[in-house]
Amino acid sequence: MGLTATSTGHHVSSLPLQWNRRPGDVVVALAGNPNVGKSTLFNTLTGSNQHTGNWPGKTVSSARGTCFYHGRRYVLIDLPGTYSLSAHSPEEEVTRDFLCSGAADLVVVVCDATCLERNLNLALQTMEITSQTLICVNLMDEAKRKGLSLDLPRLEQRLHVPVVGISAGRKRGLDALLEAMEQVALQRGARNPVSVLYPAPLEAALACLAPVIPNNRALAASSRFCALRLLGGDIHPDVFHAPSLSAAVETEKKKLEEAGFANEAFTDAVVSGLVRTAEQLCHGIVTSGQKRHDLRDRQLDRLFTSRRTGIPIMILLLAGILWLTITGANIPSVWLARLLSWIQSQCALGLSLLGLPGWLQSILVDGAMQVLFWVVSVMLPPMAIFFPLFTLLEDFGYLPRVAFNLDHAFQKAKTCGKQALTMCMGFGCNAAGVIGCRIIDSPRERLIAMLTNNFVPCNGRFPTLITMITLFFVGTAAPFGPVWAALLLTAILVFGIFMTFVSSRLLSSTLLRGAPSSFTLELPPYRVPRIGQVLIRSILDRTVFVLGRAAAVALPAGILIWIFANVPVGSGTLLSVCTAFLDPFARLLGLDGVIFMAFLLGFPANEIVLPIILMAYLSSGTLLEAGHLSSLHTLLTAHGWTVHTAVCTMLFSLMHWPCSTTCITICKESRSLRWTAVAVCLPTAFGMAACFLYTACVRLLGFG
Ligand code: GDP
Repeated sequence: MGLTATSTGHHVSSLPLQWNRRPGDVVVALAGNPNVGKSTLFNTLTGSNQHTGNWPGKTVSSARGTCFYHGRRYVLIDLPGTYSLSAHSPEEEVTRDFLCSGAADLVVVVCDATCLERNLNLALQTMEITSQTLICVNLMDEAKRKGLSLDLPRLEQRLHVPVVGISAGRKRGLDALLEAMEQVALQRGARNPVSVLYPAPLEAALACLAPVIPNNRALAASSRFCALRLLGGDIHPDVFHAPSLSAAVETEKKKLEEAGFANEAFTDAVVSGLVRTAEQLCHGIVTSGQKRHDLRDRQLDRLFTSRRTGIPIMILLLAGILWLTITGANIPSVWLARLLSWIQSQCALGLSLLGLPGWLQSILVDGAMQVLFWVVSVMLPPMAIFFPLFTLLEDFGYLPRVAFNLDHAFQKAKTCGKQALTMCMGFGCNAAGVIGCRIIDSPRERLIAMLTNNFVPCNGRFPTLITMITLFFVGTAAPFGPVWAALLLTAILVFGIFMTFVSSRLLSSTLLRGAPSSFTLELPPYRVPRIGQVLIRSILDRTVFVLGRAAAVALPAGILIWIFANVPVGSGTLLSVCTAFLDPFARLLGLDGVIFMAFLLGFPANEIVLPIILMAYLSSGTLLEAGHLSSLHTLLTAHGWTVHTAVCTMLFSLMHWPCSTTCITICKESRSLRWTAVAVCLPTAFGMAACFLYTACVRLLGFG
């Protein structure tokens, strides 16, 4: 393939239009319905790593990337997925405005081969805006698997724009696509795409209005499209600076009203015109060899979404993933810890040979390196297992089924079922979950989803929970240890989900009152996950990203905590003074001053809470092999830990303030410090109340 690519794609919240446009650049907009493989195509062409997954609505931001073909630079803009361009949602508005701005030299409309007719609606609307359109029919492999055959050359003849069939996921047909892109880019304006056929009075109005619309530099859409939008009231005639246009529009509107096409009837006529044209164009193009190609999907749906089996299977799947994570992570974690502690001792040796002062050696080796290595050895193995498994489920198309199963519960909490999707994203990273809340249309429900996302533990909190469980409840060496550990962790996560409902309900009956909105969530087809890509994507994108962030925080945190533990204040150290100050309050919550302080210092990233606790205890003890569970247990019990301390630490880990990145994201997304404060206070209040109540009960019953 004569293609070279550079990886410059990036996430931005608005359209990424600020770049050094070189002369000769070809700007290509990728448009399409949600979940048709636009991001997969974008990633394949540009070498970027935009989030992909089998559910509609995940691309809430746009991205830009570049690729080269025959020496020419193509700048690709991955637009958010939309079903139409009528600007009913922010995604539709962003996409429509971009297409109308004329910033793109050509628009590639990515369609799903398995439901071509529905996808043609957007293609027709795009062709209405610009003739520089290319139809890219993706998922041809899936269509073939379902026994569908598509006559694309015939479709091309009918549409009068190039049509190319590809399988982006399997990298098939990309050469032909690039070739067609080049052709469209070079032969600007040479096509006359098929028009949507509207009812006669509407066509007559368009025929009168289109010729009198002057060229407008800010609006590069076709005059027919402008005429349609003027009649629909989406554009004001003043935009065109033509005094006579207002009158012409009014005259045509009046004629339409008389013909029975006022307001809603007009919109209905436009929509049905589109649907009918798409139907006519598709007639005879798609033929199916099988009677019901979606039979298997329906059978699976009966299993995954039925009232009886839906939720139990969901919990079993979660427990299964956690079991695999705990079992699989155990051995590599110990190996990694051994390797890293050997590296640490070698570094200590090297530094002493260099003749560095003792305190500097200590700060580097016992401070920074110790915490960093702990984070790596404890976090890397479970993440490298959990993320790929989770991504496989996402690629399979399971996440929207989770939303479907939990919709009833969210309705009871007076919020939106789509919150289940943002909750799932929160398992990886709460900040990502908060950004994902953009898929929720109602501002009230979006805010509730943002404020409660923190109740599902992010990846940074998993290690703390897993370590607590294996140290104080079931060791992985015990019979069926990993199974029990996984079940316990599942119970904790289910409790987190339950608290999400409770807090959502609380918010929707106090600060954010309102009725739940209805929404349609498309259940995408089940797809065989692309294992290789899933592994690469989840390990490279998610694991390395999260680990990198944790490491970036762990290094300075290690140094800081070393300073806290070594700066003498009175008869103790700065750390002992601070922890002693916090201790009485922390004891009320079943914790101690060190644990509470670790949560405070762990604000930049939850991953470092446990290392900070260990560092603080170690400052008055002996060095232990990081990751070695029995020595960890000894260290904690020597500092007064019991099973109850572990329970309270888990409860507080599950419910306390979000990390700094999540707080910043909430602040940006809600544009309000007040709501950010609520996001901090809500889980913290629940967490403190739960710890306090648990401790009080334990003491009352005489177990404490
Ligand atoms: P977007 O919402 O349009 O950006 O869609 P994505 O790029 O996230 O893809 C949606 C789903 O389709 C993902 O699960 C992809 O793995 C899958 N997918 C994308 N292209 C292909 C393809 O050519 N063949 C198959 N079988 N799956 C694909």
